[in-house]
Amino acid sequence: MDVKAIYMKADALLEGHFKLSSGNHSQYYLQSAKVLEDPKTAKQLAEALAVQINASALQIDTVCAPALGGLIAGFALATALDKRSIFAERVNGEMQIRRGFEIKKGERVLVCEDIITTGGSALEAARAIEALGGEVIAFAALANRGFCKRDGSSLERKENCSLPVNKPLFALADFDFEMYAPDNCPLCQAGSEAIKPGSRGN
Ligand code: ZN
Repeated sequence: MDVKAIYMKADALLEGHFKLSSGNHSQYYLQSAKVLEDPKTAKQLAEALAVQINASALQIDTVCAPALGGLIAGFALATALDKRSIFAERVNGEMQIRRGFEIKKGERVLVCEDIITTGGSALEAARAIEALGGEVIAFAALANRGFCKRDGSSLERKENCSLPVNKPLFALADFDFEMYAPDNCPLCQAGSEAIKPGSRGN
């Protein structure tokens, strides 16, 4: 499956000069919501991801997505795996399990994002699950930005990956784009200004 082609076709892989939510700059920006606005594509991607996860023989009870970014991918993956679908959300900056979702002691949870960058939100969701007695056994995303190590990929894990080393990350592709600190960005140095996608009132 050519995930990059799917992203490009959906205008979900933008080229320009972007300010990422981390504050870093990049020539590329991924807008997974644009891919997932087509439910058939969401289903197709989630089913491919489910094949990988099922092949690992890991037993999963529940898929938990960090809101907002992971919601659609998480729901689609839970559907493909035929597992329970819940989400974590940020309240006053802290990732929490709300909405009456219960986590049983020892419940085996997979945390699913749309894209894993350094995995910060996914890790926070994992901690919220573990605080309630659940056991986080794996992470998943449609694509991996190349900081964390995707199961089966030849790319190595980088220092700023926050996911636990001993738990697999399942993803369909590595989108290994360079990111730059604002004061060390060649695009800024060339005189252009970084824009924040989605911040123009749309
Ligand atoms: Zn820049």
